[in-house]
Amino acid sequence: MDDLNDKKSIFVIYVQNPAEIGSRRATKAILHVRLNRDYNEILSDNSKPRSELIDDAITGMKLGEPFPEENGANKVFMSIECNCARCGGGLSIYNCPECGIEFDGGHLRSGWDVPLSVKMVAYLEEHGFKFVIDPILARQHEKSRYEYSMRRLAARKGNL
Ligand SMILES: [Zn+2]
Repeated sequence: MDDLNDKKSIFVIYVQNPAEIGSRRATKAILHVRLNRDYNEILSDNSKPRSELIDDAITGMKLGEPFPEENGANKVFMSIECNCARCGGGLSIYNCPECGIEFDGGHLRSGWDVPLSVKMVAYLEEHGFKFVIDPILARQHEKSRYEYSMRRLAARKGNL
């Protein structure tokens, strides 16, 4: 679970309660995730929903503590993202689409729609984290969006 030789990129995920964004209490966990794939490669891979691709690439996780390669000369590519502490869904720039909770978007966040992966949820729960809504729902919604976009892509190809 912690092999330094296959490090390629790091995700730092702020797990935040959307109802508390704007206050210092919003961040419930900071999850550092080491992947054995380049993030750009994951972005261009359409073989599975993104949380599943990320899950397959996880080689280590830490809570609230960086990996050595996040700093210094051997620094690898890092991406900072925010997910919902209630449901595990990806936080957009102004809401949690899963929970329907909106917040002031005037904060530093890029927004994404990728839910916490199976391994991330298991790791957080092992460390005492409790979700309000089962994170499996956010992953099912991601899967539906993925299947819809793949059907659209196939239909477009069929028209050529
Ligand atoms: Zn949520």
